[in-house]
Amino acid sequence: MIPLDAVARRAIKPVICYPNETLPDPDLATLARARAGARKSGECLVPPRAGRCFRVPAGHFFRITSVEGPQVGDLDIWSAADPTERLYSGKTRALHGTHLTRGDRLWSNFPHLRPLATITEDTLEWYGIDEFGGSVHDVIGTRCDPYTHHLLSGQDYHHCCHNNLTYALIEELGLPRDQAEPLVHDVLNVFMCTGFTRDTGQYFMKASPVRPGDYLEMFAEIDLIGGLSACPGGDCGSEHSSDTVTCYPLLVEIFAPAGPVARPEPAPNGYRWP
Ligand SMILES: [Zn+2]
Repeated sequence: MIPLDAVARRAIKPVICYPNETLPDPDLATLARARAGARKSGECLVPPRAGRCFRVPAGHFFRITSVEGPQVGDLDIWSAADPTERLYSGKTRALHGTHLTRGDRLWSNFPHLRPLATITEDTLEWYGIDEFGGSVHDVIGTRCDPYTHHLLSGQDYHHCCHNNLTYALIEELGLPRDQAEPLVHDVLNVFMCTGFTRDTGQYFMKASPVRPGDYLEMFAEIDLIGGLSACPGGDCGSEHSSDTVTCYPLLVEIFAPAGPVARPEPAPNGYRWP
């Protein structure tokens, strides 16, 4: 039964759940000055349909660049000191919105809830939100994985981002799979163009607007391990979890500033239980 005041109830205006004006200022001007004097200190090429880990010391920058062709990447981030501290995509979404860009931060899970990285540059910032409600670099998807694929199709596919990130972490930390796999977490979908359909509320993707040369760059707030998978969906314009679409590598570069960057250390969250 639709209530008589249904129209009035639906007409109530929304309020923002987490007004974020009180978050610490990312101080992009200071970070830009540090970046201007930085020198490249390492790189890692992530092959198509595969994953790689890389390390970024606190105070360094890392850049993910599209090379050769449009390609989406699934990014995991862990604290190098304790990989059980890792990106919390859900709370990052609640604080900054469904899609991230310059000035937004990647927050860690409880009880830490502190910034792991700050986005300092995004060449796709111009994209904004399109007519379908789509935007770029989401924290609303999870990561393509073999379990959901099997659930929906009954098939086994082994190059999902979940598998790629698990193998990369096994390689990086020397852990057995049963210890590495639970550390793999919901990602920042770098370069992926996604949203929710207005009529059914379903998660959608569309061909990424990324082109070779586009990049997303971040500042590491603490010592980090990054894990990046070049998604088997390629530009994610048609399907993922298959070997049919064209995929390209992704380039990760690390940049070391000339000296320490003057900024507050991201302290663990200040909440204390009674
Ligand atoms: Zn994927």
